[in-house]
Amino acid sequence: QAKKAGRGCYRFFHPSMSEQTNDHVILASNLREAIADRRLTLVYQPQVNVATGALHGVEALSRWNDPVLGAVPPGRFIPVAEETGQIRALGAWSLRMACEQMANWIARGVPVPTVSVNLSAIQFQDPELVSQLATVLHQTNVPPERLIVELTETTMIENFEQTMTTALAIRNLGIGLSMDDFGTGYSSLANLASLPLSEVKIDRSFMKGFGSTGNVRQVVTAIIRIGHTLGMTVIAEGVEEPDQCNELRAIGCDVIQGYYFARPMDTASLDTWLRQRRAEPVTCP
Ligand code: C2E
Ligand code: MG
Ligand code: MG
Ligand code: MG
Repeated sequence: QAKKAGRGCYRFFHPSMSEQTNDHVILASNLREAIADRRLTLVYQPQVNVATGALHGVEALSRWNDPVLGAVPPGRFIPVAEETGQIRALGAWSLRMACEQMANWIARGVPVPTVSVNLSAIQFQDPELVSQLATVLHQTNVPPERLIVELTETTMIENFEQTMTTALAIRNLGIGLSMDDFGTGYSSLANLASLPLSEVKIDRSFMKGFGSTGNVRQVVTAIIRIGHTLGMTVIAEGVEEPDQCNELRAIGCDVIQGYYFARPMDTASLDTWLRQRRAEPVTCP
């Protein structure tokens, strides 16, 4: 456990540790059942093109509503799934669900251009990942350009060579590749420049104080410029305020994902949201 916390991060034993471990075991066993019984769901958060107001795509996010534990956020269960190896089953499930949903939207003529799926670092090191992606696309009959997979930079710490090989294979299939949470943790411009990314997502921590202070604005402006130089679509995450939306549009950000436009929602709510938008398109104020 302490080792997994990573370099430069220390964890000390304290009295509540055994309690936490117990919690963790309960969470892990309930999660195993939830995955087996197909009780996890996906919600979809719209991503809006700020220049045109058009829907760019949606991001699929896992939800777990446990009968005993209640709603467990992915920030809690994804790490447990990674530590217990359940992330393989969970990841395969969310990939399939998202592609089946995209096939459904295509069949019904619902205008959702792309669906983005989060991939854990562990999935990215799995030699089966590329054939798994190809199989799911083939079986659901979804064109590869309708799917985007998101990776984070923790993926590259372990094995850069492997990550690069997998990334190139994914792009060769025609699938989009997105760098999630850029600007946090192990972020580096070297990774951004060397990987064959189609998209970069600026982490939502940049949105704090974005409108008021000059420094954050300058940094975000620089990331947008670099992203564009590298031929990527730039998405800002966690946009909640109209001012943030306006500022981001002014400095050339392409797409916005955040509560300002919409929260993650189930497919029925997304249908309604899309219908309402057609009557009354939402853009920055
Ligand atoms: P992420 O991929 O960076 O997803 C964006 C997160 O930001 C989501 O949290 C979303 O609900 C939240 N968000 C979006 N707009 C706003 C906003 O305006 N304000 C605030 N405060 N938050 C906003 P969520 O759904 O709790 O997911 C957390 C993380 O869990 C995700 O971060 C992703 O890393 C991970 N995750 C979720 N589903 C999956 C999955 O199926 N597989 C894997 N590997 N990871 C997943
Ligand atoms: Mg993501
Ligand atoms: Mg993110
Ligand atoms: Mg994330």
